[in-house]
Amino acid sequence: MVPGIHRPAHVRVDLAAIRHNIKAEKSHLEPGQKLFAVVKANAYGHGAVRVAREAVKAGASGFCVAILDEALELRKADLTQPILVLGVTPPACAGLAAAADISLTVPTLAWLKAADQELTAANLRLKVHLAVDSGMNRIGFSEDADFLAANDFLQANPHFDVEGMFTHFASADSSDDTYFKQQVARFDHFKHLLKLKPQWIHVDNTAASVYDKGVKSDLVRFGIGIYGLNPSANPASPELPMKVKLKPALSLESELVQVHTVVKGEGVGYGSTYLAERDQVIGTVPLGYADGFIRKFQGFTVKVGDCYCPIVGRICMDQLMVRLPHAMPVGTKVVLIANDPAAPNSIKKAADYVDSIHYEVACLLSDRLPREYYEGL
Ligand SMILES: *Cc1c(COP(=O)(O)O)cnc(C)c1O
Repeated sequence: MVPGIHRPAHVRVDLAAIRHNIKAEKSHLEPGQKLFAVVKANAYGHGAVRVAREAVKAGASGFCVAILDEALELRKADLTQPILVLGVTPPACAGLAAAADISLTVPTLAWLKAADQELTAANLRLKVHLAVDSGMNRIGFSEDADFLAANDFLQANPHFDVEGMFTHFASADSSDDTYFKQQVARFDHFKHLLKLKPQWIHVDNTAASVYDKGVKSDLVRFGIGIYGLNPSANPASPELPMKVKLKPALSLESELVQVHTVVKGEGVGYGSTYLAERDQVIGTVPLGYADGFIRKFQGFTVKVGDCYCPIVGRICMDQLMVRLPHAMPVGTKVVLIANDPAAPNSIKKAADYVDSIHYEVACLLSDRLPREYYEGL
């Protein structure tokens, strides 16, 4: 999708907030503990390369991404720090990763053997992290025998440099620690089986780190916190208090492109789901669900000028309508998502409104919205 550079609709990202959040997290780390900035999914919709550069300025030691292409994007932008691909990369791409000095995740012994064939053929050495499935049931080793066999395989193998071992928690953002503790115990079990000495044994995501879960982690895979958002984001649930004070970085802004009066009884938008109860002023905003601002936001309150106004009628693919308290000029600023966590249109409120989490709201914002960067205070 081409970015709409001739349209007043932007995702705005406060780079000072990004740096602030990383520095705040770093100041809370233990001596020697490293921060890897998780910039997968275009940095949760914020723009991967730009966020990665700010992360380095603020002291990040490396990056995590979800897929190999995201790692290659960072390398292409001349970022030279370590990069770990957290997902399962096709073993056929092992050579490509090795040549770009990108670390891959090992999910199974079978993966390792398939990657070994590629690396042997290309005569390359690949950096890897062993994934342990301690209870997420997503990827990684969960059987002792497979894990031990992989260790034996790696000990004698010149094509792999085992730099890490990690696991991922299913509920580090919950106040109930039961499942979390089971996962820690399961991971400890695999740590005892380990025959290699990787540099980084890591478990912390944002939640495990900012809620001080007290598990040892040589590096923190810091994701949602970079963007200033509290990881305890279950729909409509209260947020857990964090040790680290974060600032949301993202806002979604546009302008009124037309303002007109709708007479009593007329409908607004497809299906006329909204009927004017009296003569009303309606403003049109030039973005819609194709920008990732989904139809479920119908009825959500956004800020137009100094007023909070409801979105009325169905959200269209490319436009939406708001009910204004009085006529306002074309060009009046519209803040659909505010970076003030206390605002009625904060990203957390937006996520609650559509029965989702702020991770998803941010990631859905499509490439049609240009990302605009600024230095907030
Ligand atoms: C996405 C992801 C993270 C980052 O999680 P946050 O909650 O955003 O901090 C860390 N580790 C893994 C394996 C992930 O997939």
